[in-house]
Amino acid sequence: MRALISVSDKSGIVEFSKKLVDLGVEIVSTGGTAKKLIESGVPVIGISEVTGFPECLDGRVKTLHPNIHAGLLAIRGNEEHMKQIKELDVTPIDLVVVNLYPFKATIMKDNVTREDAIENIDIGGPTMLRSAAKNYGDVAVVVDPADYEGVLKELEENKEVSADTKFYLSSKVFEHTAAYDTLIANYMRKERKVEELPETLTMTFEKVQDMRYGENPHQKAAFYKEVNKQKGYLANAEQLHGKELSFNNINDTNGALELVKEFDEPTVVACKHANPCGVGSADKLIDAYKKAYAADPVSIYGGIVVVNREIDAETAAEINKIFIEIVVAPSYTEEAIEILKSKKNIRILKLENINEKQPDDAYDLKKVGGGLLVQTIDSKLLSEEGIKVVTERKPSDKEMEDLLFAWKIVKYAKSNGISIAKDKQSLGVGPGQVSRIWAAKQAADHAVEHLGKESLEGSALASDAFFPFADSIEVAVESGIKAIIQPGGSIRDEEVIKACNDAGIAMVFTGMRHFKH
Ligand code: 5GP
Repeated sequence: MRALISVSDKSGIVEFSKKLVDLGVEIVSTGGTAKKLIESGVPVIGISEVTGFPECLDGRVKTLHPNIHAGLLAIRGNEEHMKQIKELDVTPIDLVVVNLYPFKATIMKDNVTREDAIENIDIGGPTMLRSAAKNYGDVAVVVDPADYEGVLKELEENKEVSADTKFYLSSKVFEHTAAYDTLIANYMRKERKVEELPETLTMTFEKVQDMRYGENPHQKAAFYKEVNKQKGYLANAEQLHGKELSFNNINDTNGALELVKEFDEPTVVACKHANPCGVGSADKLIDAYKKAYAADPVSIYGGIVVVNREIDAETAAEINKIFIEIVVAPSYTEEAIEILKSKKNIRILKLENINEKQPDDAYDLKKVGGGLLVQTIDSKLLSEEGIKVVTERKPSDKEMEDLLFAWKIVKYAKSNGISIAKDKQSLGVGPGQVSRIWAAKQAADHAVEHLGKESLEGSALASDAFFPFADSIEVAVESGIKAIIQPGGSIRDEEVIKACNDAGIAMVFTGMRHFKH
């Protein structure tokens, strides 16, 4: 039996090779791998002895030779194949152990040069892997050091690797080389800095964890992380306490996380089913929490709380007053952690780079039956022209502050969405309604229910898309709302503006809508 070993990740390779030699396997190996094996006392046939050709071009050409590939691709049960390789003096290779140049680790380095990245594209390795994997009936191919043990065990027990294992190893190779090439394709696409979406979408996601189930218990699920350098994502959060995150936990928390990134000052976002239910900003985190809590003390129960400052003992104690399912913060004081941990069922997550936003060219993906909708993320808040006052009355500075606060919130509420805010506190949110008027009514009712009718007096309302009719303005007028922010652009804008003017409401257009379906 002949094995070809050529690995970049050399962990475990010496022990594995020694055991192969003990089993009578002959080892052929390339430059660095051969050196390491020989130094460790493993007898090795140098690759050049097999190819009759020196390793050259800085290692770009080592194993790319018919003596290798005919040895890998010959079908042992095919007489003609066996006759041909005999005539060509090619020895069959039965076991291939290859892992590739570290392309991923290279591009994940800071300030990596294009030359460095390109030099780390493995050519001969994937070629061998593919040859061996295509001929899985006769060749066992190991791309993952985690498989060394299992392969050895089979060789020790049966003197061969079983057909099932060889097929498994082969499928693993194609998964691996596909992901490897995808990483390269993505890297190249980013380097070209083109804005058009690619003809074929290739992206690499790696499994973070399996989950017990999906959105519902009868659905299978896992969480995958995109291969990139960004740190401010949930996939990079460190869980300090509590049960594993569920599918819904991750989806919902992500909604709150994206919203908190819009705020610079200490802010707390409480969220339920991926919709914000309470948001507060203040000089101190504890006050921000109290505002977010007071905005909806019902929905926050069993909900998600994401904050953008260190959680101190005082805030932790406040959070602990009710059952919160998940809390995410950039850090915690030691005391705060102890307080929060006293609740068994809370999941505590630490995400250091919580303010880091996704880059503008990041993709947002929506799976539809048999297809995928791809768009760049909704990374902006207002149009380039900014805010345009369209009513007779201009919003005061204070109203403007409330309007922008409400605008940020509505951006992250499901459409049709309306949010109402005042004094850096959300008063009501009406997310995911099938008509805008319902969203407006729900946001107003939400405020009345939890903070009382008076809270709405002089508040600001945001609508994620234009008002198709003036009816929502009537809801605003009845509620005592004094300022409105919306994209504008309806054929009935004039009617809507008139309704505001008649009621003394100040309204601004953003020129940018934030649908979120
Ligand atoms: P070594 O450290 O043994 O010199 O090199 C091992 C690495 O070289 C492995 O990652 C393997 O995939 C890669 N490799 C093997 N043959 C070739 C080849 O012909 N060309 C290139 N570019 N890489 C190869």
